[in-house]
Amino acid sequence: MKIIFLGTGGGRFSSINQRRMTGGFRIDNLGGKNYHVDPGPGALVRTYQFGLDPRNVDGVFVSHSHTDHYNDAEIIIEAMTNGMTQNYGHIIGSKSVLSGFEEWGPCISSYHQSRSKVLEVEKGDIRYFDNCLIKATPTNHADPKGVGFQIEYKDFKISYTSDTAYFPELAKAHDGADILIASVLRPGNKSIRGHLCSSGFIRLIKEIKPRLAIMTHLGLKMISNNPIGEAKRITKLTGVKTLAAFDGMSLDINYNNPAKARIVSLKDVDAPYHGSNSNLSNFERRNVNKLADKHGENDELSLIRRNSF
Ligand SMILES: [Zn+2]
Repeated sequence: MKIIFLGTGGGRFSSINQRRMTGGFRIDNLGGKNYHVDPGPGALVRTYQFGLDPRNVDGVFVSHSHTDHYNDAEIIIEAMTNGMTQNYGHIIGSKSVLSGFEEWGPCISSYHQSRSKVLEVEKGDIRYFDNCLIKATPTNHADPKGVGFQIEYKDFKISYTSDTAYFPELAKAHDGADILIASVLRPGNKSIRGHLCSSGFIRLIKEIKPRLAIMTHLGLKMISNNPIGEAKRITKLTGVKTLAAFDGMSLDINYNNPAKARIVSLKDVDAPYHGSNSNLSNFERRNVNKLADKHGENDELSLIRRNSF
């Protein structure tokens, strides 16, 4: 199993200026399936940039109705369903994301929800999907229906707090996590409403005692204050191996010993013919239609052509 970070920035300002990317993360090969969690702005482009394929996603998770978590959800769903031509995959999200609640959401249109199995979850809900169990965990955040997720596969638990302030029940909800992924906006004890700073994260780690802790969704103050040094400090204080995620970080997880995860920095790859890219070779330029056919990428024109014969 791999956890791949397609973005590690978070919060409005970190997202707007893209000091860090904001494509969320993927959990790949969890029981043979790939999931994209909180595909924020740029998720589609980052997927290609780091050499992955959005068409092999089996499920999309969206925790709450903030742009840095949902922005690219619909286009990833289109990739998952082969351009909305096939019934496929799961969409798992909060009530605000899927149905809308007060001024929040919905963030995914009913059209985009029409081809997949949709699981709308509220805090405390436990559901089965594919070979996994998912628990929606509570949050204390601006979106009152926002949730985190704990995904369990064969007794192995990956917990994601999403955006939330610290509160005592949070640790209980993420109890038993082997890997804890948290949105940690600020370093030290400079907390900001509805978010974790390092000291809240430290409390949480001490209570949950995961085997590996990862902080992501880093705000500008964290990004500018040596997040790797902050993660080392947290490791020392808690005794739990803690990593500061970086854009393009891929972790090869060994279920028996997640603390020994192999860290790979994914190369920024060219995505030929997937962008207006000056490196597009002449061969690809000439053969773009053939290549598209080979990969089953039908544009509107070829569909019309096919339908009219
Ligand atoms: Zn948020």
